[in-house]
Amino acid sequence: MKALIYNGPRDVQITDVPDPKIEKPTDVLVKITSTNICGSDLHMYEGRTDVEKGKVLGHENLGQVVEIGKAVARIQAGDWVCLPFNISCGFCKNCERGLTGFCVTMNPGNAGAAYGYAGMGPYDGGQAEFLRVPYGDFNFLKLPDDAVEKENDYVMLSDIFPTGWHATELAGLRPGESIVIFGCGPVGLMAAHSATIKGASKVIIVDRHPDRLALARKIGAIAIDDSKGSPVEEILDITGGEGADRGCECVGYQCHDPAGHEIPNMTMNALVQSVRPTGGIGVVGVFVEEDPGSKDKLAKEGKLAFDFGAFFEKGLHMGTGQCNVKAYNRYLRNLIHTGRANPSWIISHELSLDEAPDAYKHFDTRERGWTKVILHPGKSGARNRTRSTSVRKGHPEAAHAE
Ligand SMILES: [Zn+2]
Ligand SMILES: [Zn+2]
Repeated sequence: MKALIYNGPRDVQITDVPDPKIEKPTDVLVKITSTNICGSDLHMYEGRTDVEKGKVLGHENLGQVVEIGKAVARIQAGDWVCLPFNISCGFCKNCERGLTGFCVTMNPGNAGAAYGYAGMGPYDGGQAEFLRVPYGDFNFLKLPDDAVEKENDYVMLSDIFPTGWHATELAGLRPGESIVIFGCGPVGLMAAHSATIKGASKVIIVDRHPDRLALARKIGAIAIDDSKGSPVEEILDITGGEGADRGCECVGYQCHDPAGHEIPNMTMNALVQSVRPTGGIGVVGVFVEEDPGSKDKLAKEGKLAFDFGAFFEKGLHMGTGQCNVKAYNRYLRNLIHTGRANPSWIISHELSLDEAPDAYKHFDTRERGWTKVILHPGKSGARNRTRSTSVRKGHPEAAHAE
């Protein structure tokens, strides 16, 4: 099959690799029809991780089941499914509590596994024609009868929509509260979408890319351009001097000033300053245990100069970490099915798999207009493809797709 593999820093290529096979009776094979390029793929693309050469990238996957292992009971060939980026077992102590982002079975010695990801286990990704999914019965989210029609919405259930939602959960957002989100990339935009659905009174988002800020305004967020002055002052102004009730970090360890200089503690300390006393902060931007490629002495060792004194004095609380996609994806799927959520509005480019290496280049430079790239393996000229519904069979309504 064709797949996108990592060759080295800023070098990915489409190449022929062996077809994945059922290796264990609990495995399922999926024909991938949609797979996104994620901002965290860029950490690997840029050579800032220890991802191994030859790895197939891609952890935001949706497709149709083509083969099931002998022990698979719930999933059938022909089912349309979306895959959480987390690979989880369903029976470890963390999975049992819904913390599937911290599964201790699938990546021994670590908590958490994922497809096509540095340090997250030996699993290939889905920027390919086919993908092997371990513990298919547990890991798949079945999609209802509008799976093909709303494919571009449902594929966001693999990561960024639940991750944006998770940011607002970690921050403790309640209806009527205000929230400030640092980072207007796909995850920040999904946090804004989630906060809006959850009934936030004010959604404030901070970035400096005009195309992204324009998208945020489109959904009713207050967009702050931090290249034009201190975002903290502006947030305090907008919130009557008090600060926002909640704050989200959706940038991560490579956060930088408008001139491009990386300042690893910039967003975290800005959040401490711009969230009201006793408010909450949710951190889903990726921070790493070590970052040898950083110019910052502390960051090389995975450390931050965090304003802990102010954090303590204000009585703030904070939640961090990867999203446990399965904690939310069923419910967010239902919001999409009933038309209450439509995360596909962030997609800027629909491309074929062959176009992926070029897309990485554009997305990596945050080129204007490249907000979110979705790849459709098996299609050429994907942008203009027509979708066939004839291959579907037996798709239960959302209510029965449990
Ligand atoms: Zn992702
Ligand atoms: Zn587990």
